[in-house]
Amino acid sequence: MADATPPFDDVLPEALRLCSPAPLVDIGANLTHESFARDLEATVQRARAANVTTLILTGTDREHAEQAVALARRYPGVYATAGVHPHDASQWSPSLAAAMSELHRAPEVVAVGECGLDFNRNFSTPAEQERAFEAQLGLAAQSGKPLFLHERDAGRRMREMLHAWRDDINDAVIHCFTADRETLYGYRDLDLHIGLTGWLCDERRGHHLRELVGEIPLNRLMVETDCPYLLPRNLPAKLKGRRHEPALLPWIVREIAYWRGLDEAELARATTATARAFFRLPKGATPPDTERKEC
Ligand SMILES: [Zn+2]
Repeated sequence: MADATPPFDDVLPEALRLCSPAPLVDIGANLTHESFARDLEATVQRARAANVTTLILTGTDREHAEQAVALARRYPGVYATAGVHPHDASQWSPSLAAAMSELHRAPEVVAVGECGLDFNRNFSTPAEQERAFEAQLGLAAQSGKPLFLHERDAGRRMREMLHAWRDDINDAVIHCFTADRETLYGYRDLDLHIGLTGWLCDERRGHHLRELVGEIPLNRLMVETDCPYLLPRNLPAKLKGRRHEPALLPWIVREIAYWRGLDEAELARATTATARAFFRLPKGATPPDTERKEC
């Protein structure tokens, strides 16, 4: 039945053709997700048109990390992370550890992760999650690369484990931070970076973040879509239900800037400078045709 074709995001509606006043880095884009298979090239082009010039593709298991590395080799301004998500922690094994260690040696891999703890869903048991996370902390210490961390309902244990490793690991970002003030200050004490998504656009569960945004030091704050997940819920009504993608990152940055009382361009410049330093991105790695974008 022809009508059953899901909505295709080939062209963004005009209301969503955003353009950041300064280049942005999307530090968490799951472009190896199957929903991007048919329009990946166009997705990267739309991101560039929105002045989202650099994408860090999240590698959540061996297969997706290898795919992310392949994409990073294909597209300038695209990089990868490589790790095993806490949901998949039960699969951790010596051979998987060796494969990850090998991936971390690739120049396109700019962080160890996504790894961490998720006691909200417990798709792997807490014990399995801690074992896989502990091992990946070791790999991060070995490679010297920064960590891309996932934490949900596990703030206390995350802080304990990071505290034990803090002197051995390099920088680390809590991606898609959604926790409370106490957890945030615990992470600040560990000098972690914080990644914010469109979660704070969600009136059901994200509004507490609006008050916390100002308490994240500007030089520790980075931005991400976590696409195709977490489409901002405050998009114009008829656009809800679409797939999230990097070209929509300026919408999130505008929202964060508003709640932080900052100019959007200033926030864009700050988060980009922080991300470039955090992931040690090579200088001049921005695609030249997007460097001086007119918006
Ligand atoms: Zn995550």
